[in-house]
Amino acid sequence: MYPSHHAPLAHLKGARRRHGAVVALDGVDLELHRGQVLALLGANGAGKTTAISLLLGLLQPDAGEARLFGRPPQDLSARQGIGVMLQAGAIADMLAVGELLDLTRSYYPAPRSVADCVAIAGLDGLLNRRYGKLSGGQQRRVQFALAICGAPRVLFLDEPTTGLDIEARQGLWRGLRTLVAEGTSVLLTTHYLEEAEALADGVVVLANGRVVASGSLDEVRARVDQRRIRCSTTVDAAEVAQWPRVRSAQRDGGRLEVIADVAEDVVRRLLAADPVLSGLDVSRAGLAEAFLEITRDTSLEEAA
Ligand code: ATP
Repeated sequence: MYPSHHAPLAHLKGARRRHGAVVALDGVDLELHRGQVLALLGANGAGKTTAISLLLGLLQPDAGEARLFGRPPQDLSARQGIGVMLQAGAIADMLAVGELLDLTRSYYPAPRSVADCVAIAGLDGLLNRRYGKLSGGQQRRVQFALAICGAPRVLFLDEPTTGLDIEARQGLWRGLRTLVAEGTSVLLTTHYLEEAEALADGVVVLANGRVVASGSLDEVRARVDQRRIRCSTTVDAAEVAQWPRVRSAQRDGGRLEVIADVAEDVVRRLLAADPVLSGLDVSRAGLAEAFLEITRDTSLEEAA
């Protein structure tokens, strides 16, 4: 989907990282390309923060490589091209928001104006307030402003909207869209699938430290943009599994469960094969189901 002749802005290649006995990342490949908003999805403990930490040079991979702009992430020149919003940021409580902005802007060669930062991050009226005295949501907006104030080419956002109410979340999305329209590339982790749907064009799904799905949002959704058909019937699952447009068919308790690309054809055929079929239920998978299904499939494979 992304032209291979463009080197990625950030990448992990075969990245492995243990935390003691826990394998947090187990051979992860990931590429962030110019102009892309890539969402890193995964359940708690899937390895998202570890992946970002490797890309930022906060952690070293045990094997494989992490690169920013083709360089080791610790390089100052690489660091000056990025903005970062982590889950736990160490920010000086005693400083006023304006002072924090000035300080952070001073690390960058061509920072964004304070007025721009205020407008994009929604900091009206907050510049003279002490960071430590702000509400959680206001602090999150300041953290966002600090991430973008250097006019970075690449933004790393680790669960940027956790703890924000819906209005504040949408405000941050608006700010992000402005930046993306200007050409900023973004790697964000999120638990909110609607956040990925609202912002991202690429998705990487992690489960137990491995990439279990990746591609465009549509591709990942399409992986399970299928219909799940459940019914009580005597029709043989192995036979149904051979039907056209059927991906899988199996017995789940007394019920037949079929995953198919199109529901109607399969339902028609099922009814023809078993006129007394009952309890018919057809559901459609969205990204949430896609995500659950992909990660569930992985844990089933691992358990096998
Ligand atoms: P969450 O969504 O909960 O933030 P995550 O996807 O970001 O999770 P990571 O924080 O990368 O996941 O953690 C991956 C695995 O590594 C987890 O099993 C976690 O418990 C473990 N882990 C992470 N950091 C450490 C550490 N410093 N020491 C020991 N184990 C760790």
